[in-house]
Amino acid sequence: MKLLEERILKDAVIRPGNVLKVDSFLNHQMDVMLFEEMAKEWKRLFAAKHINKILTIEASGIGIAAIAARVFEVPVVFAKKAKSINLDNNNYCTKIQSYTHVNMYDVIVSKKFLTREDHVLILDDFLANGCALMGLLELIEMSGAAVEGIGIAIEKGFQKGGSEIRAKGIQLESLAIIESMNADTGEIVFRKEKEV
Ligand code: 5GP
Repeated sequence: MKLLEERILKDAVIRPGNVLKVDSFLNHQMDVMLFEEMAKEWKRLFAAKHINKILTIEASGIGIAAIAARVFEVPVVFAKKAKSINLDNNNYCTKIQSYTHVNMYDVIVSKKFLTREDHVLILDDFLANGCALMGLLELIEMSGAAVEGIGIAIEKGFQKGGSEIRAKGIQLESLAIIESMNADTGEIVFRKEKEV
């Protein structure tokens, strides 16, 4: 998506550890007008799918997913990061490894808000190694809901998550796919659409 690519080139900062900092428009300050354009693009890309729920993960996914939920006119649920899993049998729970691999964290979704009636679109800000998405897919599988697709704002195409998700046959629509980024020069190269 040209608008998002242009914004990344203008405002993103490359940090050590293959981290792209986008906190001026996505992760801290949020450009909601940009989110709305992103949401419309996902709506177009998933037009053939019957979607009745959006699922994301706290915290950075929530802003994007909430704006998308308005465009899709469906409820949005976010998986909560829990300090300790409450074994009350009311929640679906799994563990996710953080992108930095420094820690594992528990995530939960209430059984009330994800059921076998649901046709889910997963949305998140970044896709890197795919750990967050694998966790969300696991929660959906536990609930018996159907995964209709995954929308990502920024995929780092040089990390393994994207190819692993596509190999599962899931429709994955990343609005910007970074082929390479160089912390020394600041250069960011995007994947061309036909190569996706
Ligand atoms: P994964 O689980 O795919 O390895 O990483 C995805 C999660 O890690 C995202 O939800 C995001 O919070 C975080 N993340 C991964 N890479 C980056 C990055 O380059 N920049 C930022 N800001 N967050 C990232």
